[in-house]
Amino acid sequence: MTPLVDKVPEKLQRLPELAYNLWWSWNLEARNLFRRLDYPLWHGLQHNPVQIMQEISRDKLNAAAQDPAFYRHYTKVLMTFDQEMKNGHSWFHQQYPDLVDKTIAYFSFEFGLHNSLPIYSGGLGILSGDHTKEASDLGLPFIGVGYMYPQGYFRQRIPSHGWQEAVYEQIDMGKAPILPVLDEQGQEIKISVRMGTRQVYARAWLVQVGRTRLYLLDTDVDENEAWDRELSARLYSGDGDMRIRQEIMLGLGGIRLLRRLGISPQVWHMNEGHSAFLVLELIREKVAEGLAFKDAAAAVKAQTIFTTHTPVPAGHDVFPFHMMEQYFAGYWDELGISRDQFLGLGGHQEEWGVGFNMTVLALRRSGQANAVSQLHGQVSRQMWQEVWPEKAVDEVPIAAITNGIHAPTWVAFQLHDLFSKYLGPDWITHHDDPAFWSRVADIPAQELWQVHVQLKHKLLSYLREHVRRRWTAGKNDSTQVLTGGTLLDPNALTIGFARRFATYKRANLIFADLDRLRKILIDTHRPVQIIFAGKSHPADDPGKMLIQTIYNLARHHGLGGRVAFVEDYDMHMARYLVQGVDVWLNTPRRPREASGTSGQKAALNGIPNLSVMDGWWAEGYNGANGWAISGEANGSEQEQDRADATSLYHLLEDEIVPLFYDRDRDEVPRGWVEIMREAIRSNAPRYSMKRMVKEYTTSLYLPALRGEIAGE
Ligand SMILES: *Cc1c(COP(=O)(O)O)cnc(C)c1O
Repeated sequence: MTPLVDKVPEKLQRLPELAYNLWWSWNLEARNLFRRLDYPLWHGLQHNPVQIMQEISRDKLNAAAQDPAFYRHYTKVLMTFDQEMKNGHSWFHQQYPDLVDKTIAYFSFEFGLHNSLPIYSGGLGILSGDHTKEASDLGLPFIGVGYMYPQGYFRQRIPSHGWQEAVYEQIDMGKAPILPVLDEQGQEIKISVRMGTRQVYARAWLVQVGRTRLYLLDTDVDENEAWDRELSARLYSGDGDMRIRQEIMLGLGGIRLLRRLGISPQVWHMNEGHSAFLVLELIREKVAEGLAFKDAAAAVKAQTIFTTHTPVPAGHDVFPFHMMEQYFAGYWDELGISRDQFLGLGGHQEEWGVGFNMTVLALRRSGQANAVSQLHGQVSRQMWQEVWPEKAVDEVPIAAITNGIHAPTWVAFQLHDLFSKYLGPDWITHHDDPAFWSRVADIPAQELWQVHVQLKHKLLSYLREHVRRRWTAGKNDSTQVLTGGTLLDPNALTIGFARRFATYKRANLIFADLDRLRKILIDTHRPVQIIFAGKSHPADDPGKMLIQTIYNLARHHGLGGRVAFVEDYDMHMARYLVQGVDVWLNTPRRPREASGTSGQKAALNGIPNLSVMDGWWAEGYNGANGWAISGEANGSEQEQDRADATSLYHLLEDEIVPLFYDRDRDEVPRGWVEIMREAIRSNAPRYSMKRMVKEYTTSLYLPALRGEIAGE
């Protein structure tokens, strides 16, 4: 039963149901419905319909019920909603009617679905969120399992000294689009997991993502000791001990929750190694049913899929054996193996000694594994060849499925309309079909450009309002007002750079030769400006140092207010940035960017990439849809940095700036718009989440669902 229904007039009874299903967030008409219901609340509450429904006055609701235009809009949205919630016409049901009763369980440590549910930190979470949404669109029999973090990830503040501060805010569960999971008696469902000598309990929350259900575990319950209640408090904080307990709860607890709900998945997908303990629990279940360890392990292997997400060693969890021993003492007996065999399941030589590596556990114990771009596939096969010592590198069984983005979530509404006009109103249904996008050529240059300029203005006024609000509240000083982007010029060529601040992403590469950059930025006739945004992990001091360096440059007179650092990057801000800048910059140290997805969001919105040939861009660049930074060097990292920076300056000076400022009589940069069109045409279908989830389905899910994967 959905809350809030008492307050809502009979005629609009189903508004709360819509508010509690995140489907509204990627359906334009549904978004507009809530926006129209109470625009000041919509704007003020950062697009959170659950909160709108709580705060809206009864008078306003009654007025809406009496307004025929609103009521028509409401019924239209409900009709679409009911149509979409029915599975019958979906892609999966059409293609695989024999498999619709199966279940694929998808485990991820973070889910980035919408800002009103801030339980993500960056790319991995956004990918899980987009995957879940597309699973709904395509009608996959799919269930997500994750973690509820009552304090989420942190909010970033950057004082005028430039050293990032982390602020944790308690998420008000009542205001988030989540509902408690209850049993038949209306009591919270609780599951428990033994950790060493104590039982740790968790309750669960349900997030309705279109047709897809996502369950989130939450350990903040009375039964737990204080330190276990805190277990799910925050994403990626705390030490190894906290992390292992979180991962035990996600892996073991997640399965127990599904069992408690009577859900029996045939396929288990581990998105990154955080949930890899789930294979142990699946084996334990089968051993308890009477199978020998070997047979149980083989059966589990046939059902499990693992996706690895980073070639950076620090991105893989490794737990010391004593910690494993502390939490799993006795568990190996239930698996029917010895302590040494148990520790050997994830045993791996690390720099500091031998440890229990979650990626190794997942690779050894799942029947199918994949990396997230073609280049990342090559790198991963090399990196993990030692797990298959008998195989040559190119025979290592790690496939590659390149990441994508959920187009309805990331496309600007103005472009949505433009695509509807020139590609057809059903473009969303066909958007993974490359042939379909050839019609982009029909969009008149002038119209595409006008929409882009409008989006750029929207971005800049969003940034100004962001700063103004904090200024008015007395929360920032004049330096912060300047660095927040108030001096940005809507006519200048605008470069965007926004992502997590990890050192391998080299946010400072463009500052390698300050004099040369300065000339580019402060040119009187052809000015260039750069907007930076991104958080650094609270424990990552080198990352924070990068932010500080750029922040200090942003306030420097010599750069003329043409560099901004906007604080507190999140999904909401990301939408404005990937829709509103002119060029999307990415400068990772190849090959450490496994895929990257923000550039795919930009390309969908007609914003060409200017990027190192790494991750998805190594395959996405075609010579005409953006620019490739490729400094030739085969020496030290410093040499590579220098060569890449030189390549970057050269592209800016000789190609990008001249092309952007080459205008026709109507001020339209014709050559530039050609590149925008080509970015959309070539990148939008291939790097869509629709293409990606179809690929996961045909190459990984189907063989597992059909029992075609051999366990051993
Ligand atoms: C898309 C997105 C990311 C991922 O960006 P990358 O380019 O893959 O690093 C991170 N954070 C937010 C908020 C995003 O929207």
